[in-house]
Amino acid sequence: MKYTGRFAPTPSGRLHFGSLVTALGAYLRARSLNGRFLLRIEDLDTPRCKSEYTASILRDLEILGFDYDEEVKIQSANTKTYEEAIGQLLASHQAFYCTCTRKSLKDHPCRCQHRFVRPDLRYSVRFCPSFTVDCCFEDILSGHVLTGKSTDYLQLKRSDGLIAYNLACVVDDHLDHITEVVRGSDLIAITPQQNALYRALGFAAPDYLHLPLVLNAQGNKLSKQNHATPVLEEMSPLDALLKALRFLGQDTTVFAERDFCCAQVLKLAAAHFDLQRIPVENRKPADQVYEKTAVRCGQK
Ligand SMILES: [Zn+2]
Repeated sequence: MKYTGRFAPTPSGRLHFGSLVTALGAYLRARSLNGRFLLRIEDLDTPRCKSEYTASILRDLEILGFDYDEEVKIQSANTKTYEEAIGQLLASHQAFYCTCTRKSLKDHPCRCQHRFVRPDLRYSVRFCPSFTVDCCFEDILSGHVLTGKSTDYLQLKRSDGLIAYNLACVVDDHLDHITEVVRGSDLIAITPQQNALYRALGFAAPDYLHLPLVLNAQGNKLSKQNHATPVLEEMSPLDALLKALRFLGQDTTVFAERDFCCAQVLKLAAAHFDLQRIPVENRKPADQVYEKTAVRCGQK
């Protein structure tokens, strides 16, 4: 199967440097293998996502020279597909209704699977596969990764009726024939459970390549939640691309020779892309990441 990669941002803010690094890593990996590259907007968390951010992310990526092999996919236009997948898991007893609240989960883990909960639209839906979930996976960059065992059940649908990130991204990666997922290492912890979800739905899981995270001065992941500055407000598109290339350990001396436009930089960077140069030392150990991002509500 032809290599197919993707970048899947959440439009809860403008593109920041951390997102650019992920977009660039995914793009270069795909293009360096003569593969396909897709863009998907993960806008299901409607209280956080705004259409103006979708527009600004699309515009910023265009300014930065990115191109895609298919029309941009918008998740909010596909909710029926996700509902069907949840229905399939409920029917095969690999999902259950849950009445737990964020507060109750702090006191005790969810036990709803073991008691009768009447199906109700106000309840969340959680995943419980009919087989044992691995607590490890193979990463293209890091090799064998141990994540530790999760005691939480992945949320598939939230009690407010919104489809959870984990379900939607698994369904879409399958439908889009994604062969390798390139993303930030904050999602390492969730990977075995996502793999289990692929299996439960009868899908083949993709390969994974987790990139080092861009951290702020406080050592936290650069994110919209901690008010990361939009990257194109901080610097020019060309400087942003070169900085992101250097973050990924790539050689940028070739770009000093003459003036390049962003699209030319991307093309040349793909031709010179060297996976082995991506630094791994600033990545937190997987178990630490696991502790920090322990699967609770199925949100990013
Ligand atoms: Zn529960």
